[in-house]
Amino acid sequence: MGEFELIRQYFMPLARLHGSRSVLLGPGDDCAIQSIPPGSDLVFSIDTLVEGVHFPIGYRPDFLGWRALAVATSDLAAMGAEPACFTLALTLPEVDEPWLRGFARGLGRAAESFGLVLAGGDTTRGPLALSLQVHGLVEQGLAIRRAGASVGDLVVVSGTLGDAGAALDYLDALSPSEDEQCVLEQYHHPQPRLKLGIALRGLATAAIDVSDGLLADLNHILESSGVGANIVRAQVPVSLALARLKGDAAVDYALNSGDDYELCATIPEATWATAPEALKQHFTVVGAIEPAPGLRLDGIDVASGSEATGFDHFRRRA
Ligand code: ADP
Ligand code: MG
Repeated sequence: MGEFELIRQYFMPLARLHGSRSVLLGPGDDCAIQSIPPGSDLVFSIDTLVEGVHFPIGYRPDFLGWRALAVATSDLAAMGAEPACFTLALTLPEVDEPWLRGFARGLGRAAESFGLVLAGGDTTRGPLALSLQVHGLVEQGLAIRRAGASVGDLVVVSGTLGDAGAALDYLDALSPSEDEQCVLEQYHHPQPRLKLGIALRGLATAAIDVSDGLLADLNHILESSGVGANIVRAQVPVSLALARLKGDAAVDYALNSGDDYELCATIPEATWATAPEALKQHFTVVGAIEPAPGLRLDGIDVASGSEATGFDHFRRRA
């Protein structure tokens, strides 16, 4: 099977799933064309996943397809953007049709679920790796950035944290328990919080998706915004499954492990007080922004800077 036959068979169907109104031309030409509606900003981001680094060697291809697009799309959610389309640069060691079928199935399900149409890509031979660029649209000037948090803001997080990080302990389990299955599901099928991100537009002063752990990701907001924060350990939301599996250590997973793709945002206290219940029910207040720089946990300094927390490729390998 040649490169073009492979694209036609496995990837063209993802370009037709459901037209994105803004994609004028999809795969098959030298470039794709996306029109930007007047009054909108184009918001875009690229993520690369390398086998053995970002996902386990031999990882299920349908899970990989979902996860890869979810991880990329989560960045759109964090900006409050409406998903539009994506491109896929795929490097494959060989043409393995069962693998491609599974991968395209997982990717297609994710694309449909998130409202993204495949607009183009690149297919090459080499060690398994993929890069996905996602495009979203947001009303001009309303994208939520990392810089913007200020004193008087609360720190909120969506959902629960820590499941995906804990799941790494069970990836090889032959017959995982029900709780283990719950946290594994969070790792295999993360849900980018697109609706919540859009709902935060105009309310949140800053937002980020939690890919590297709450402390590390909140630190990015603090550094960009030039403020500090205190987090109340007892308020950090964890799932029942994680609490049962890890006991007192559950919160440590929530604070330090990544891959959950929930949102962390800062919102002025008065805005929060009057925010719709339908929004508030998806978030937990975990702390507050403070004038003193740095991040504190129950008032005690967390070793400063992103070097102390979360995942950093270059640090780990050094
Ligand atoms: P070029 O040489 O002009 O860059 P390519 O041969 O790389 O073109 O790709 C031909 C067409 O197929 C392009 O429109 C490209 O977007 C599309 N394409 C290539 N790989 C993929 C893929 N994995 N998924 C979707 N579209 C793809
Ligand atoms: Mg090309």
